[in-house]
Amino acid sequence: MLLQTLREEVLDANLELVRRGLVLYTFGNVSGISRADGVIVIKPSGVPYDEMRPEHLVLTDLVGKVVEGTLRPSSDLPTHLVLYEAMPDIGGVAHTHSDYATAWAQARRPVPCFGTTHADSFPGPVPVTDSLSDDEVAGEYEKNTGHAIVRALQDNKGAYSSGILVANHGPFTWGPDALAAAQNAAVLESIARMAYLTLAIDETAKPIGKSLHDKHFLRKHGVNAYYGQKRD
Ligand SMILES: [Zn+2]
Repeated sequence: MLLQTLREEVLDANLELVRRGLVLYTFGNVSGISRADGVIVIKPSGVPYDEMRPEHLVLTDLVGKVVEGTLRPSSDLPTHLVLYEAMPDIGGVAHTHSDYATAWAQARRPVPCFGTTHADSFPGPVPVTDSLSDDEVAGEYEKNTGHAIVRALQDNKGAYSSGILVANHGPFTWGPDALAAAQNAAVLESIARMAYLTLAIDETAKPIGKSLHDKHFLRKHGVNAYYGQKRD
């Protein structure tokens, strides 16, 4: 069996979504990439998490052709492929329909940053993509979802982000490896929930100031930013 270690890492990252209460049934998926091998390891489609074993994970090449595995890969694989190509330094991608992050995505509202928990992980509001057009939905839907994410990141002036909301759908997150991507999904859910609660307490609450935001974000990510890290 190829890439045993990466298979185990990606399995553990998928189970992290379960441990953090981010997924129901077979929802959600995490992948990891070995760029040296040109291989992506991703959750199989439709296999319950509690039955998933390393050998169930599916290995594909960088255009999504299965190189090892008898099960079908997650149907969101094409979205993952676009993200790996657009962000050459990321090593893992996660997708959930966690409640609060998805609620913001459904409202098509960026998650405002009200405090340092958010500022520690994101350089600004968590962006939301544009809605996909009817043609994009009818065509290569999952691939077009990836392109919508990349466009939204570019529109966001290239500010580093470890996740995004896909309009009317839910969050995608990423990181240096599969587990980091899953952990960022948990962080995004947490800050989405906190932002919701903040507005429930005070609907006129104002976002955190730029100096405090930058202080928290840059001390954790100032050197290691990996997506369009230039900040002006
Ligand atoms: Zn989804």
